[in-house]
Amino acid sequence: MAKIMIVDDSRILRKILTNTLTEAGHEVIADAGNGKEALLLLEKIKPDLITLDITMPVMDGLEALTQIKANYPDIKVIMVSAAGQKNKVMEALKGGASDFLQKPFEPEDVINIISKFA
Ligand SMILES: [Mg+2]
Repeated sequence: MAKIMIVDDSRILRKILTNTLTEAGHEVIADAGNGKEALLLLEKIKPDLITLDITMPVMDGLEALTQIKANYPDIKVIMVSAAGQKNKVMEALKGGASDFLQKPFEPEDVINIISKFA
């Protein structure tokens, strides 16, 4: 079971992911609404894995991924994408993301993808 941080600007999506992962036995140790908030939290908290939304205000997922991988290369990052973001997903995978989850998703999609890495 993994210690997970959820980063998404949608409060509803953060809640859905938190509930799904918690029910599957994982521990959601933090959540953040954008990349900048996530990086501040990472100065204090070390998750095993981060779910990272691509489209967010202040600092988007691609910029956050670059900084997370530069500073914390051991943390696994799963991108959360929307339809039509194939190019950004490819860029993220080249930049060190482990995999991606495309919205809309079902709870089992979340569990399956996380279980590959944690
Ligand atoms: Mg978003």
